[in-house]
Amino acid sequence: MSASRKCPNCGQWSRWTQNPADRCEHCHSVLDPVAVYREQARQERREKEDKRLSIEFIQINPDDPGYIKFFKRIGLGFQIAFVSIISFFLWLIALLAG
Ligand SMILES: [Zn+2]
Repeated sequence: MSASRKCPNCGQWSRWTQNPADRCEHCHSVLDPVAVYREQARQERREKEDKRLSIEFIQINPDDPGYIKFFKRIGLGFQIAFVSIISFFLWLIALLAG
């Protein structure tokens, strides 16, 4: 593989190891801004997914009185519906972006 890349900033050829973090030897700008952007977007998406997975669901305690269980079940139902919708949109966005 060719190990050099033309700098998008100054137009000089620089050594390139196909790493998104590689910088121009002449002006120190990023050699592959698209790869850097993509890498950042991927990391942000991963962080969002981590947050999504850490949503705490309402715990229904067997000792709770009947009406508390009833309201908790409704709350849990909304939570599950909400997470499902968010998951669906995240999937859709990932599908459209990919
Ligand atoms: Zn440069």
